[in-house]
Amino acid sequence: MESRLVDFYGRVARKLRLSVIDKCNFRCNFCMPENPEWIPNEKILAFDEITRLVRIFSTFGVDRVRISGGEPLVRRNIEKLISELAHIRPIRRLGITTNGFFLAEKAAQLKDAGLQSVTVSLHSLRPERFSFVTRVNSHSKVLDGIRAAKDAGFENVKINAVIIRGYNDDEILDFAAFAYEEGFNMRFIEYMPFDGKRKWGMDKVVSGEEILSKISKRYQIVPLEREAGSTAINYKFVDGGGEFGIITSITRPFCSDCDRIRLTADGKIVPCLFDIHEYDVASLLRSGESDLEISEYLKKIVKLKAPGVESLMKTSVELKHVRPMYRTGG
Ligand code: SAM
Ligand code: SF4
Repeated sequence: MESRLVDFYGRVARKLRLSVIDKCNFRCNFCMPENPEWIPNEKILAFDEITRLVRIFSTFGVDRVRISGGEPLVRRNIEKLISELAHIRPIRRLGITTNGFFLAEKAAQLKDAGLQSVTVSLHSLRPERFSFVTRVNSHSKVLDGIRAAKDAGFENVKINAVIIRGYNDDEILDFAAFAYEEGFNMRFIEYMPFDGKRKWGMDKVVSGEEILSKISKRYQIVPLEREAGSTAINYKFVDGGGEFGIITSITRPFCSDCDRIRLTADGKIVPCLFDIHEYDVASLLRSGESDLEISEYLKKIVKLKAPGVESLMKTSVELKHVRPMYRTGG
């Protein structure tokens, strides 16, 4: 290995969150603005541009890639991109985060293409509620998608739920029961200020502590060792099949060992979700720069990664709506 991508605070980039499209067939009200402005098609990175960049990242030891969006399964021929990425030798883990709507029809193809893991977002177990927040009548399709992923051979399917006060905080125990009884890995996500409608407020955040306290009153659980760089604190049920994780990005962010880097669908590198800065690597790709020049650029911009939300909170700067989540992929 030639070298690593290390930032000014000594953190090493190992994971790439890859947004392949900003468009989505859902309109989750904690993510999308009322009238989203989509990136023009010609600005969206082509598959060969994405694979070239991933290959360059991989020379720096970035060996875990998670495909996201917008809705990644809306991108035409996504399985072709997956197959190309799966063939990049150093990539050890290749996963996707999806709203699950097209999963029932695509799960087997995705598996064949070389995808290794699937995370499906399901923010309510109640169909009407789910339709209300996503604005699409899709609950049963997403459940079918989750089952199809299991049937296609994806192990340890993860389920994401953003917990929002007054929307679904009364379902915490239902989600826990879903994980316990069905053997899923449930992930409770604290609501982050990246909603297109700018309705986020601390009063709507349900803290990881509150989530844990509710679950631990009902179930016997044990914490699992936290993997370095992980966004979640994970637990398992002592006598059940499933696990759950709590992503405390607001109340207890793990910025000090963050190892993620994000690439938007139009080729902007976003070193930190909470930072307004993003860096245009697409224009380098499209102006004929060599791999070496792009590598030098990556080293330079990763160095500039912000210390993270922890430092923002210490200096009591207010958390801001930097960019909506559908633009970075979460
Ligand atoms: N469309 C796919 C999906 O929904 O799974 C992938 C993209 S989505 C932006 C990635 C993740 O971000 C999802 O799990 C979604 O629930 C989460 N997310 C969206 N808006 C959020 C917010 N304001 N706070 C916390 N998580 C959010
Ligand atoms: Fe689409 Fe995912 Fe955003 Fe919902 S959270 S609007 S499914 S990108």
